[in-house]
Amino acid sequence: MGLFEMTKTVLQNLVRGPATRRYPAVPARTTPITRGHVVFDPATCRSCALCSKRCPCVAIHLDKEAKVWEINRMRCIACGDCVESCPFGSLAMEQDYLPPTEEHVVDSYTITYVKPERPAKKPAEEGVDA
Ligand code: SF4
Ligand code: SF4
Repeated sequence: MGLFEMTKTVLQNLVRGPATRRYPAVPARTTPITRGHVVFDPATCRSCALCSKRCPCVAIHLDKEAKVWEINRMRCIACGDCVESCPFGSLAMEQDYLPPTEEHVVDSYTITYVKPERPAKKPAEEGVDA
């Protein structure tokens, strides 16, 4: 890059200001396809573990015995694979970002889904004439 080009770029950048945002002081910009963070519905999750198998970052941990579903927010890259793989619609992608933090954030949920009981079989009809 010649001196002229470089000077031009520097002057343009001085006029335009920074290309980045001072998030979180300035709210993040979102679009209809923004992937902010994964949300989980403990009332519909059936502990099938498909989401944890699909996650490329090993961000999801499922303890079927204890009925605990966990997501490590520091590992999650918001790729959306878990949301697409869940056959029961228990996962969704919200557009807003979680607040920045330096903590090791693992969100833990207790699965509350209760398998509905099968309807009792009707007793065989009695006294039916052949
Ligand atoms: S969005 Fe991607 S990285 Fe995050 S938990 Fe789901 S599958 Fe894993
Ligand atoms: S969130 Fe969906 S994919 Fe993951 S264990 Fe629950 S039901 Fe299965």
